[in-house]
Amino acid sequence: MDLGIRGRRALVCAGSKGLGRGCAEALAAAGVDLVLNARGTTALEATGQHIAATHGVRVTTVAADITTPEGRAEVLAAAGAIDILVTNAGGPPPGLWSDWSREDFIAALDANMLTPIALMQATLPAMIAQGWGRVVNITSQSVRAPIAELGLSNSARAGLTGFVAGTARQVAPQGVTINNLLPGLHATDRAVALDERAAAAQGITVVEAAARRAATIPARRYGTAAEFGAACAFLCSAHAGFIVGQNILLDGGATNMTL
Ligand code: NAP
Repeated sequence: MDLGIRGRRALVCAGSKGLGRGCAEALAAAGVDLVLNARGTTALEATGQHIAATHGVRVTTVAADITTPEGRAEVLAAAGAIDILVTNAGGPPPGLWSDWSREDFIAALDANMLTPIALMQATLPAMIAQGWGRVVNITSQSVRAPIAELGLSNSARAGLTGFVAGTARQVAPQGVTINNLLPGLHATDRAVALDERAAAAQGITVVEAAARRAATIPARRYGTAAEFGAACAFLCSAHAGFIVGQNILLDGGATNMTL
């Protein structure tokens, strides 16, 4: 399917690896030029070069921490006016509800709620002015069903979800859509880190921990970054203009619910 976005320009945050990279690859495959961000330069440059060479699109890389005001300013200055925004950042650390301090919550809110909100506030005006734009926020299945040890994520992402629900309906009249993608377990570095934690806690190997976690998913496997990216690219496509303010679970059926 031609996604109808060839020649558009996207900012993909936290996109050198994992789900963000999956989104960047799928957008590039649809002919979208990229501004690609991550903190570390090695993976960022390698990913940028790979994508540019594979898909023949222009890729500008910006190594910066997207969760800091300085990092965001650098990324936004390099991006200029964009048609598509994909927000993403690392997730907060796991832990126990009773241990988190005010500072822990502020850090989680900064990274996973206030950063995507600031990026939307900076980029939506140009999208509104041109009468077309797409925003996809990478959040988590924890928005739909809490993950106990990820309480910082549950909290921060719920705040972002509320902001998007209201804002998406305010910008839709100008041809701009905002939606959230809610990943369940996907085979990325983040998932490996959580597998290692589960393995240590249960006294089993990482492979066994991953197998046990995969067995809880109706699809009986982790999702892939490529699958995730394809869903993102569709939400950013010309065909998705009527999808507004949605929270779309990509979890292999793991969240047990009817609606
Ligand atoms: P990942 O494989 O660890 O990749 C994270 C990417 O983000 C890397 O490119 C990393 O590069 C970049 N990054 C991290 N922090 C950044 C920052 N502050 N500024 C700029 N770039 C940053 O993680 P992932 O699995 O793709 O997860 C992406 C998001 O989805 C996370 O918020 C995670 O909590 C959420 N999620 C993932 C899963 C899953 O199963 N994978 C499930 C639910 C939710 P640098 O380290 O070089 O900056």
